[in-house]
Amino acid sequence: MSHRRIWVASAAAAVLTVGLLAPSGASTAAPPDTANTAAGPAVTLAAGETALVRFRLPNEAMLRDLVASGADVAARPRTTLGEVQVDLVVTDQELAALTARGAVATQLIQTATEGSARVAASKKAAARALVASDTLQFLQSYWWTTDGQSFLSVEVATTATDDPDVEITVTWTTADGTTGSFPLSRFEDSGEYQYHVALPQPVPAQPVTVTASSSLGGSTRAIKPTAWPGATPPPMPEGYQQDFIGAYMTPTDIQARIKRLARQYPSLVDVIDLPNKTQGYRRTATAYLGDPAAAAIVVESVKFGDQKMNGVQVKTVDPGKKNRPLKATYKDRVLTVSLATDSAGAVISTTDDVAALIKASYPQVFNAFVEDGSAGKVMPIVAPVRLDDGLDGTEVSRKPWTVQALRLGSVRDGSKIGVLAYSQEHAREWATPLVTLEFAERLLANYATDAETRSLLDNVDVFVIPVTNPDGANYSFNDYNFQRKNMVNHCTGAQRDPRLANSWGVDVNRNYTVGSYFDGYVGGSANCLSGTYSGTSELSEAESSNVIALAKSHPNIKFAMNVHSYGGYFMWPPGSYKADGRITLPRPSIEEAAYFQESAKRIIGAIRSSRGTVTWPSYTGPVADVLYSAAGNSADQLYYELGILAWDFEVGNDLWNAQTQEWEGVGFQPPYDEAHAESQEYAGGLVELVRVARDLQAQDAAAR
Ligand SMILES: [Zn+2]
Repeated sequence: MSHRRIWVASAAAAVLTVGLLAPSGASTAAPPDTANTAAGPAVTLAAGETALVRFRLPNEAMLRDLVASGADVAARPRTTLGEVQVDLVVTDQELAALTARGAVATQLIQTATEGSARVAASKKAAARALVASDTLQFLQSYWWTTDGQSFLSVEVATTATDDPDVEITVTWTTADGTTGSFPLSRFEDSGEYQYHVALPQPVPAQPVTVTASSSLGGSTRAIKPTAWPGATPPPMPEGYQQDFIGAYMTPTDIQARIKRLARQYPSLVDVIDLPNKTQGYRRTATAYLGDPAAAAIVVESVKFGDQKMNGVQVKTVDPGKKNRPLKATYKDRVLTVSLATDSAGAVISTTDDVAALIKASYPQVFNAFVEDGSAGKVMPIVAPVRLDDGLDGTEVSRKPWTVQALRLGSVRDGSKIGVLAYSQEHAREWATPLVTLEFAERLLANYATDAETRSLLDNVDVFVIPVTNPDGANYSFNDYNFQRKNMVNHCTGAQRDPRLANSWGVDVNRNYTVGSYFDGYVGGSANCLSGTYSGTSELSEAESSNVIALAKSHPNIKFAMNVHSYGGYFMWPPGSYKADGRITLPRPSIEEAAYFQESAKRIIGAIRSSRGTVTWPSYTGPVADVLYSAAGNSADQLYYELGILAWDFEVGNDLWNAQTQEWEGVGFQPPYDEAHAESQEYAGGLVELVRVARDLQAQDAAAR
């Protein structure tokens, strides 16, 4: 906890400096003790409980381990003083294991439920020279104001890249002479020094100068921070219609909304049925035959539970006679296994015998395997048990799902520049389809009355996939709210134990073909139970194949936005790297990188206009730099293979808690009011993306 105390104390010290020069500001500062108390009690989970928890990790290496092992990393806010902060979905056991390794749980966000000796010597001499002085450079220096609170965000690079002990301090001054300072922390990624950074720091007003100095004696000249994002969208006209979202929406609700929009705006809408039906909200039916704590096997239907396999009974019987053979019969939806006996009439069949017999006897109907810890044990006599798929969503269609895209525009013949917005690749990100649906309906509803909207839909071909992973979404809504993946279970053997059901499925956004796990990139997993399981092969899943099919069949699509939650990021390629040497996919050209950045600022300005939310400059950039390596993500395939300018949103920015002077995460399923606010602000961001596309098309036309 020493880290936390230093952070709180330095923040309070900065405020105290303000207080000496501007007494009125002091009253809002919490004394250090109060701020410490506000950290709240330690995070504890009940046995079997799973939760989304914010952790402070002791070092960068631990984060790399977690990503490499397929941990369910939700978002990764940076922190100060050389420690790493990360949000993870963990079980109580994982929480205990992480705590034992030195991780500190700081916020319970949501429960579920590196030659020769000469070279070395010269390097040492160089390092000694650096001790005298290093050179510092501001990579970023931005300020903004949200809800009356101003913030300063900086990134500073030192030339002493290999010295882990360099301390960098930033000092700011406002117009009235108020001054304060805060420390930066060294940020490494995959073992490579990047720069020094801190979370955005509260300041009493616009900082007019900022300087940085290092413990090695290096310093910068005073520079003037730039206003971020420095772009404002055109004002909304009188009578502009918005807010078409009233509640969280399930895939069924989304289907109905798509239908209604097509009916209401026939001249502006096509509904596109994407070519690959999903598996559907369905699972095989299973039962434990015996007591898993003593001796048991798992019997599983080959077909899905809804295909008349739910309710099928299974039992074992003692034949009651000597020297009987092991025998299985399946009749009238009852599987009866008569166990073998010895010359004294005692049962001698083992769990292994029974599982093997069931599989061999009815390979088209049943699968069976021995429960962990039960191998070689005598099979117990078990009264009939019923197979069940364990799915709780009784109102949800079990049929394979047709994923739909809305196509919006007055000219939908491929002659206009296309923009694709797609959301909910990750099932639990409930706010994301609200963003894309609000976006779609704003364009449609305002077409008749707003000249700017009309210009957008007359010149841009807009494609929207509100829910990319409907099966996983249904599971998230009905069974396990932290479900991230789809419903396809590629596990084999004992990993099919129904107690692991919440860990099955493929991470749709790790199943694409460029920079994938299969190509040796970081951030995907071969473990079918991992949160970032990449599937059996590239594009093994219907969900990922649909996104690519839509983009390939509409070559006019030049822009894409992949909408995720949460954390408040605005990102673009490259999205992944190889661990050894941190070799990323090719970087965009300088011109293109500048275009990404300038367009991002416009879009961030539009997002801000709703309720003041400002996506941090430190969270705006390539995925691999600002978040983590995400092997085989969709944006990388769209960009590198199809030439689409492909971005990603993580909606749901951290909220500033003025009381505790901390940034707080909002989670995947915040109280609806927060989700609603996210839908409104990010829909505005997507409208600005359409404007960016229209403007590029107009520029290109003018150039011809
Ligand atoms: Zn996501």
